[in-house]
Amino acid sequence: MAHAPASHTTVTLTVRGSEIIPGDLLAVRDWSAVEEIGSRRDGTTSLHVRDGGIRIVGDTREYTVRREITPAPSPSAVLAVGPCATDDDRANLDGFAFDVCDQLCVSAVPALHSSYNVRDFAALYVWGPVLGDDVVRKLDPVAAVLMAEALAYGVEVRPMLRPSECARCLACGQGQTVAKVVTKYGEAFCVDCRGDAAGCAWCGSDVVTNPVDVGGTWVPMCSPCEARHI
Ligand SMILES: [Zn+2]
Ligand SMILES: [Zn+2]
Repeated sequence: MAHAPASHTTVTLTVRGSEIIPGDLLAVRDWSAVEEIGSRRDGTTSLHVRDGGIRIVGDTREYTVRREITPAPSPSAVLAVGPCATDDDRANLDGFAFDVCDQLCVSAVPALHSSYNVRDFAALYVWGPVLGDDVVRKLDPVAAVLMAEALAYGVEVRPMLRPSECARCLACGQGQTVAKVVTKYGEAFCVDCRGDAAGCAWCGSDVVTNPVDVGGTWVPMCSPCEARHI
């Protein structure tokens, strides 16, 4: 994906149709992120795009649109699986998906039904009992189906850390409850402090990210992208 030049101007294009949302990338001369959309009384829509190279404004021109972030999972996204039958369950599962995104710096989808294709995800992170646990606990039917599919297709299933396994990052203090990496001296460091985070899922910049809710998926995003998204 093209990155905006360091210095750019805001250009307003006017096109017909409204199948474009903020955050879409528009192919004009290069890919440009749509920042704002306004409706006009003549039925056309004005799009504010950052790209100093745009010169021609036409209301009948066709533009190719690419949506960079949608609720559809990205290849590195993970599925957060757990009980989801009640409102409390769903709120807890959403909180767990937030933690997964926050701690691993990857997009995390809370699994609210069993119709996901588990092969779309890099791994399943499980909140609550895991299929095959010898502990006798009732498995949520949705979670059980997804875990069984993951095992069948060879998608990794990662249980939460047990309380005794949890740690804090030695550098920044972030709780490590989802997964933990320790040095040979037994010191835990978070993904960010290890320098292993992939950066902002929206613009790709290699900076500190925070989980942002994009259509029900927790997406690691930098502060400027978060401000633009909200
Ligand atoms: Zn840290
Ligand atoms: Zn960003």
